[in-house]
Amino acid sequence: MAFEFLAENLKTLQTAVDETCQTCDRDPKKVFVLPVTKRQPLEKLQALYDLGERQFAENRVQEMLDKAEQLPSDLTWHLIGPLQSNKVRQALKFAKYIHSVDSAKLLNRIERIAGEDAKKVKVFLQVNITEEEQKSGFSKDAVEAVVKNSLSFENIEIIGLMAMGRSGASAEETKATFCELRELRDSLQLINSKITELSMGMSGDYKLAIQEGSTYIRVGSLLLGDREY
Ligand SMILES: *Cc1c(COP(=O)(O)O)cnc(C)c1O
Repeated sequence: MAFEFLAENLKTLQTAVDETCQTCDRDPKKVFVLPVTKRQPLEKLQALYDLGERQFAENRVQEMLDKAEQLPSDLTWHLIGPLQSNKVRQALKFAKYIHSVDSAKLLNRIERIAGEDAKKVKVFLQVNITEEEQKSGFSKDAVEAVVKNSLSFENIEIIGLMAMGRSGASAEETKATFCELRELRDSLQLINSKITELSMGMSGDYKLAIQEGSTYIRVGSLLLGDREY
């Protein structure tokens, strides 16, 4: 196989996840390793598929569509990047999970279009925990109302929250960010009991994220190598 290193990387990462879970008394089965395949060639995705991976994450709608159309149909696609409102219908063609819902307007639009197209979608609300101007996401204060207003949704299931650490932050700061997201999830769960998941942690900070309760780590470069375009 041309991409033997992928099998090795998968194994190494899963071992590290298992070991991290041991240090914080968590069940490794509750931490899903989601490969981020953005800007990686189709051959690498096919190789991961051949190794048994069935879920991939992309950050651009068009790239997800292009890849999904060329790969087996039993794959589950996650959208993790910004979603423009005019791309919702396209995104719903393949995305079963959207991690990057960052406005009530977008959420309502997804609910409506999913209904029109008979799709069901699981959603994470992206929270700008670090309050960075250039970052998208709800403010911490805004999410409670959003959750209350979406209790009657029929096509969207809000399953959790997503956030990213501040780039360049210390381990302590990143851990505090992830801790804040977990506490926010805990409080929202009292309003909507289906809000159980935390999409947090990437190649550089997934161990901290696991220690703070992450249930989906989104790992790109550490697993697949440098992005190619
Ligand atoms: C690219 C990306 C990742 C993966 O980043 P790596 O550092 O390569 O693991 C995770 N989450 C989001 C939202 C991304 O855009």
